[in-house]
Amino acid sequence: MRIAIVGSGPAGFYAAEALLKRADPKVEVDMFDRLPTPYGLVRGGVAPDHQKIKSVARVFAATAARPTFRFLGNVRLGRDLTVEDLRRHYHQVIYATGNEADRRLGVPNEGIPRCTPASVFVGWYNGHPDYRAATFDFSVSRVAVVGNGNVAVDVARILLHTRAELERTDIAAHALEALRASRIREVFLLGRRGPEQAAFTPSELKELGALAEADPVVDPADLAACAPGEPGGNVELLRAYAARPPRPGAKKLHFRFLVSPAEVLPGPDGAVAGLALEQNRLEARPDGTVAARGTGRIDRLEVEMVLPAIGYAADRIPGVPYDEKAKVVANQDGRVVDPATGAVVPNEYVVGWARTGPQGLIGEHKRASAHVVEHLVADGPGLEARPLPPRQAIDALLRERGVQVVSFEDWKRLDDVEVARGARRGAPRDKVVDVAAMLEVLGQET
Ligand code: NAP
Repeated sequence: MRIAIVGSGPAGFYAAEALLKRADPKVEVDMFDRLPTPYGLVRGGVAPDHQKIKSVARVFAATAARPTFRFLGNVRLGRDLTVEDLRRHYHQVIYATGNEADRRLGVPNEGIPRCTPASVFVGWYNGHPDYRAATFDFSVSRVAVVGNGNVAVDVARILLHTRAELERTDIAAHALEALRASRIREVFLLGRRGPEQAAFTPSELKELGALAEADPVVDPADLAACAPGEPGGNVELLRAYAARPPRPGAKKLHFRFLVSPAEVLPGPDGAVAGLALEQNRLEARPDGTVAARGTGRIDRLEVEMVLPAIGYAADRIPGVPYDEKAKVVANQDGRVVDPATGAVVPNEYVVGWARTGPQGLIGEHKRASAHVVEHLVADGPGLEARPLPPRQAIDALLRERGVQVVSFEDWKRLDDVEVARGARRGAPRDKVVDVAAMLEVLGQET
């Protein structure tokens, strides 16, 4: 059996491991990535001050070392390869392409200068090649981060870290330099629902109480209606923050709840000068969920930058069925389906956020990918009888098309270069942030 996995993030690697650790049938896995570098979200999404989370890359490197595994980096499905090519060269295909698009607030002036989706900020500070040219104006002093998820928390933390806190991370050099000169003094974290509904997790919330030069600011009135809450949970942590006197001179991280952006307000220069916020109230729905309802009362928040961190969506890939409503690859429990008819597209599967949307911590996708791999195994018998072109034929095809494929060995050389560069600034790594420069390091100049 020969199987293609498109995408080398956590879900793709967990699927590869689940496939390859089975002794029978003998399975070969070719994993593609549009970037020359593997690990997807672990490299481009996980915050640079979360090195412990990034250490999962070691597990993925062990999978990559299996003899029947190959990494083919710098190959983009829909540009360098088509879905038809994959069908011809592989018995089964797994899409593990993640969520690379952002969701929109859908309010007036969302696109004006200094209102930028958090996905762009995250990609930029993580040295993702797509975002290296983004620019941010940190001469402002007040920033609103919209959303109450862990991405919003990451963004707030990175904005409020001191130079010393940032220097020991693998933040991209361009971001380190820009943030060193930051004049940001206050960040507002805006939740549309209440503290009890916040999506961030207690361990991430706890980190916000341990910033070197910034203090969390919580209004006790926002917690008055909350039930006591679990020990060590979000509500209890927020209560502790509400009781904590802010340190004189410290930067501030304000938690605001029950507010939704109604309009981004431009100043005379056309860039963000404020945010109109509608006050919400909570409404219990018959299904037991709690929704935010606008009250019509609008207040102006004086901020000069807005970073919406309200979730991600899967990108459309030519030839891959897309579910417009859920914004994922159309699927039933990981089997790709035609979105119009619901009919299964044989031998094609999807794992990770491309399957579920942006939910779940990295480790939770280990089981989820293994679950989808069970479908591949169940559907597999008989497929291996179909003769395929030789394994190297895909390499020849890509060469013909002028694609410079980056192998896992190549990546390891680039990895060594980045780690050595990082050591010079006392950081775990200093990333090469553009594809041409990566290929140059590898001696494959474009
Ligand atoms: P998330 O956890 O789904 O949070 C999205 C937030 O945006 C929610 O607070 C949501 O509010 C809010 N939101 C959505 N639409 C909105 C709108 N129109 N207006 C205002 N607010 C809106 O998503 P995420 O923060 O992007 O994180 C994605 C996943 O990655 C999560 O599983 C997260 O835990 C994980 N992650 C983990 C870490 C870590 O350090 N462990 C770091 C980053 C991300 P409602 O709840 O009201 O919908």
